[in-house]
Amino acid sequence: MIVAIIGAGASGMMAALAAAENPDVQVVLLERQARVGRKLQATGNGRCNLSNLHAGKESYHGENPNFAQPAIHAFGPEDTLAWFRNMGLYTVTEDSGKVYPYSDQANSVVDILRLHLNKPNITLKLGFEVEKIQKKEAGFAVTGQGETLFCDKLIIACGGLAGSKLGGSMSGYKLLGKLGHKSSRLRPSLVQIKSPWDGLASLKGVRANCHVEILKNGKLFRDSVGELQLTEQGISGPVVFEISRDVCYGAGEWTAKLDFLPDFTEEQLMEELENRRKSNLPMEELLTGILHNRLGRVLSKTAGVRGKNFVRALSNAETEEVCRCVKSLEIVLSEPLSMDSAQVTAGGVLTEQFDPNTMESRLVSGLYACGEVLDIDGDCGGYNLQWAWSSGRMAGLHAGKENP
Ligand SMILES: Cc1cc2nc3c(=O)[nH]c(=O)nc-3n(C[C@H](O)[C@H](O)[C@H](O)COP(=O)(O)OP(=O)(O)OC[C@H]3O[C@@H](n4cnc5c(N)ncnc54)[C@H](O)[C@@H]3O)c2cc1C
Repeated sequence: MIVAIIGAGASGMMAALAAAENPDVQVVLLERQARVGRKLQATGNGRCNLSNLHAGKESYHGENPNFAQPAIHAFGPEDTLAWFRNMGLYTVTEDSGKVYPYSDQANSVVDILRLHLNKPNITLKLGFEVEKIQKKEAGFAVTGQGETLFCDKLIIACGGLAGSKLGGSMSGYKLLGKLGHKSSRLRPSLVQIKSPWDGLASLKGVRANCHVEILKNGKLFRDSVGELQLTEQGISGPVVFEISRDVCYGAGEWTAKLDFLPDFTEEQLMEELENRRKSNLPMEELLTGILHNRLGRVLSKTAGVRGKNFVRALSNAETEEVCRCVKSLEIVLSEPLSMDSAQVTAGGVLTEQFDPNTMESRLVSGLYACGEVLDIDGDCGGYNLQWAWSSGRMAGLHAGKENP
């Protein structure tokens, strides 16, 4: 039996290795890029956050988030670590549950997978972009680069649209669409959010521990505390990625309320500022020692107190305004950055058309899908790769079984 897999990313390589556990199966792994795991290599800022020990029900989203559960249950984070360890990959788990390769290099994960693909019953074809799939009476004809291959079972592991420079594309949605599968609306997730706030112009590269509240029409939509990164265009960093899903979608006014001193109360900050008012501190040093210098200056300017020479000239109302800007600055949000810069695609091929216990299509027998192409996306922190491993393994094991 021949099992063809389209896409040698995280889920496709896992599916290939799982299907090849049956020695009677010949696996053909097709990848349009010149090497395997291109996106995987860029994950986690080059460190690859390959799993999260807390992966569970609440970690996944989509029109039917429960679809992810059987696969995560059958092959969860602990199984993933054991599986990688068995292949020779050492890992380290942080207190947060995030798992990284011990080497701290995403390359190690790609290399271990690449080395294990070198099996007698796996053929890897690089630079092979699948353009057309035809369902035959028995099996499929898969065409790309002027060549047509035949297989008995087919797994679509083409990934999502996010991160196009690393291989994200519409390909998987289109190939599955031609076979009758529908997709939900695709949106960028784990992504930076743009803001027209003029303070950003001088804050590029500033990082701060921040409590970020996203408000829709003034009501709390989502919030989180963690590292905020300010860019020329907007707000970014882990704390924003965590809560970026579906922000700025749907009519309404979207704002972010930023608390740049989440570990201190307003009263504590006011007390500190009152003390500084008794000193000879120049105004540009008003927040020195409390916040990143550039951030302190921009917030003072936003509070409208930069015109004065000395902190002692501040009025009570001005001091309160500075405190408000540090503890609850509200900025308008316009839209998420494009799909190119997103880490993951929210939305995808409708999961109701697949069996969650096998990843087989309910429309076309012998056709499977796994990974990001499906309408499942995870939170920030290793959950998306865990979905790729779990769903890839389920698809590979079932496609690799002979039909009774
Ligand atoms: C910058 C960045 C950082 C990230 N960091 C993390 C992280 O630290 N932890 C985490 O959990 N998730 C992270 N993610 C998300 C994670 O990488 C993806 O969710 C995961 O790689 C999806 O796996 P996949 O197998 O579905 O798709 P991919 O890994 O994207 O693989 C799909 C493969 O299919 C190939 N392909 C597509 N169409 C065709 C075709 N027609 N013919 C042949 N080949 C085709 C592509 O070239 C690609 O190699 C990150 C994403 C990005 C962009």
